[in-house]
Amino acid sequence: MTFEDFNLSASLLRALNDTGLTRPTTIQEKGFPVIMSGADVVGIAQTGTGKTLAYLLPCLRLWKFSKDRFPQILILVPTRELVLQVATETEKLTAYMNVITVGLHGGDNIKKQVEILDKGLDIVVATPGRMFDLVMNGSLRLKSIKRLVIDEVDEMLNLGFRHQLTAILDLLPPKRQNLMFSATLTPDVEELINIFFYNPKKIEAAPVGTPLENIVQIGYSVPNFYTKVNLLKFLLSDPKVFNKVLVFVSTKKLADQVYEAMEDAFPKTLGIIHSNKAQNNRFNTVKKFDQGEFRILIATDIIARGIDISDISHVINFDIPEEPENYINRIGRTGRIDKNGTAISFIVESDRVHFEKAEAFMKKNIALGTMPESVPISKILTDDEMPVVPMKEIAVKLPKKEDAGPSFHEKKEKNKKVNMKITRKQKMMLKYGKPKTRGQKRK
Ligand code: AMP
Repeated sequence: MTFEDFNLSASLLRALNDTGLTRPTTIQEKGFPVIMSGADVVGIAQTGTGKTLAYLLPCLRLWKFSKDRFPQILILVPTRELVLQVATETEKLTAYMNVITVGLHGGDNIKKQVEILDKGLDIVVATPGRMFDLVMNGSLRLKSIKRLVIDEVDEMLNLGFRHQLTAILDLLPPKRQNLMFSATLTPDVEELINIFFYNPKKIEAAPVGTPLENIVQIGYSVPNFYTKVNLLKFLLSDPKVFNKVLVFVSTKKLADQVYEAMEDAFPKTLGIIHSNKAQNNRFNTVKKFDQGEFRILIATDIIARGIDISDISHVINFDIPEEPENYINRIGRTGRIDKNGTAISFIVESDRVHFEKAEAFMKKNIALGTMPESVPISKILTDDEMPVVPMKEIAVKLPKKEDAGPSFHEKKEKNKKVNMKITRKQKMMLKYGKPKTRGQKRK
């Protein structure tokens, strides 16, 4: 099947041709007719499956020009990076249509956003927080919304957007089509669907828990942080093979530690993103990585989630996430559509249980590689790795109750004095029999 087989308009087909895409992915093929039928849809799809186009194409096909220019399509995404990415993709697809797309996210100047909204628009791509603020201050009118897309809804709920999301859903016109995309169908997501969706049709990109076939997975048992750093340096020393590498870590602190340990060995080719970095810095870093200026990007899960970077040669799990779904999300950043990729996991003792959970989830055993001989095994431990020394239990011998005597003792003479001070209020009561105020304060 090709996109020509979809009932697309000439302008959409032309824009698609410009992007060079010809054959729809599974989720696009399955999704198009169902979304075109007007049904509510729940799509189970990870990033990298082509899910963005799976909702954009039918939404744009169904869009009709209207003079009043109130938005008809609302796309909610969890992160600022995704706002930018989805808005850019929408603009590419509408290059030959009279469509105005606006991306809204926190961190941008709200006054400027209000000015942009005043000029009229057709499609909004937004994070729920900023979107809610703009609706509340009257700058964004939702009365013409015909189609709502909630992308990466599981992540949105993880990030604590539940309240804003339900508040927005309550404000939308009741007659609308709801589309939702999620990598996993958690109980939270199900609950949202049950409340707000009408008889939704479910479409799946690939059964959840099945790693993409074109990803080679390897694990290394590594004793500690600095040996992990040594192994990482060893692997990355081959820029031809390791030409675009995403290194995942689970915390900001660890991301900074890895960056510091690697910085000298890879000057100018190493980037880092996590939520403590300024927005502009985050955008620029991702751009530099995408365009090849940075060969290596160290990232935490939340920030890297959903960012679409093509041709990643390797994903390296510097640590193993506790949830198997996260492991799948991480490794899915390589081996995207028709490309091969490699996922390498560094496993310390405490990671083992999480790694086994991921294996069980995928119903697959991952081969363990032998540590290359030239990688030095470090004996140095970080503060976090230091064994916790149990405090020696010092037995304090308490006196027996009968030896200790009663807890009461006579006060010393000097402590027997009673405080005779009375307040002004009490004094006034005594004098006049009623409380007296000092009168009004002088101006
Ligand atoms: P997504 O899952 O929406 O984040 O898309 C991931 C990547 O797949 C993006 O870079 C898209 O440009 C690309 N893509 C989307 N649809 C197709 C397709 N039909 N063929 C090849 N690549 C695609």
